[in-house]
Amino acid sequence: MAKQAATQPLHRIAERVRFCTRCGTMHPALDDGKRVCGDCGMGVLLTAQAGAIADPGDPFLVVSEELRVVAVSQSAEQMFGNEASLLSHPLLSALSSSEGDDALARAVRRAAMGSRDVVTLPVRAASAVARDAGPLEARIAACGPPRAALVVIELALRAL
Ligand SMILES: [Zn+2]
Repeated sequence: MAKQAATQPLHRIAERVRFCTRCGTMHPALDDGKRVCGDCGMGVLLTAQAGAIADPGDPFLVVSEELRVVAVSQSAEQMFGNEASLLSHPLLSALSSSEGDDALARAVRRAAMGSRDVVTLPVRAASAVARDAGPLEARIAACGPPRAALVVIELALRAL
């Protein structure tokens, strides 16, 4: 067993997961100082609530409080286009919501500011590939450090 810092009770560690911003691989949320993913060597390791990413293969974006895309997972590239075309671009140029872009922007901004709520919204993606995939949902949760919003994209089929 790794030693737990006194400031981090066990139950809080178990509720959190560390993930790679590039390949999506999930690791235990241990504070070992590692910042770069050992699996792909490209992504940065961020921490989020354990339920935020259901499957390491789920496409996701990491978005700043200013609603700009700061990281793109490999599986999200297949849906939204390559990383270079997305990085530092506005999230709302890649994604919109039938609940209103205001609602999407608000949820992302709150998560990026560290909200503990995990919010799910119906979304549409601008890319043709994503439109063909069918109705989508975004699960939005806080991640970091540094603070940002994790926007995980899922097919909305289970809503039927
Ligand atoms: Zn990785």
